[in-house]
Amino acid sequence: MKQLRDTTMKFGFDIDDTLISLREHAFHIYNKNLNQSVSIDVFHEIEKVEIHEAFGLTAEQGSNMWKSTLEEIYYTSCPTYPNAVETLVELNKQGHEIYYITARPSEHGERTKQWMIEQGFPIQDDRFFCGMKDQDKVQIIQELKLDYYFDDKPDVLNTLSDDSLKVYVMNQSYNQHLTIPRITNWSELKEIINN
Ligand SMILES: [Mg+2]
Repeated sequence: MKQLRDTTMKFGFDIDDTLISLREHAFHIYNKNLNQSVSIDVFHEIEKVEIHEAFGLTAEQGSNMWKSTLEEIYYTSCPTYPNAVETLVELNKQGHEIYYITARPSEHGERTKQWMIEQGFPIQDDRFFCGMKDQDKVQIIQELKLDYYFDDKPDVLNTLSDDSLKVYVMNQSYNQHLTIPRITNWSELKEIINN
């Protein structure tokens, strides 16, 4: 018997440094607030997720700097990556399910969701997950039975190995060693789905 194929798929996205350019935004804020002028070339060569070393900060100073600047980093003018909004709007229009899974602290969940909506991302309340640890994302991703998941962080991606899930890494200077499929611009997503 011929079966109709259900073409609705579930897409999961990390937010920071997957859909939006958060570290680079933070890099500019650090320069400003620390009265430094570290070149953006330095930023592009950082092989760690953390950016504090470029400013001569210790791990502890860096952690304090991040925490004390978090409001400014999260809720000002962080750029979205090229074609990110348009691509997700299109997916949503096609009837696919879009999930956001971010390890931002849970107290930032509601405001982050609002900020993302203001940028134009299609968001449904029950498809927005916030406040888990990096290594706990895997449970949510499995429970949701996603078809695709996108993230930038090696610590997250290394926990995901599931035959039914297609995992992609968002290209960043600190994840070059990962051998899983890579996306460098959101305009590539259409082709990925079609293949
Ligand atoms: Mg991220």
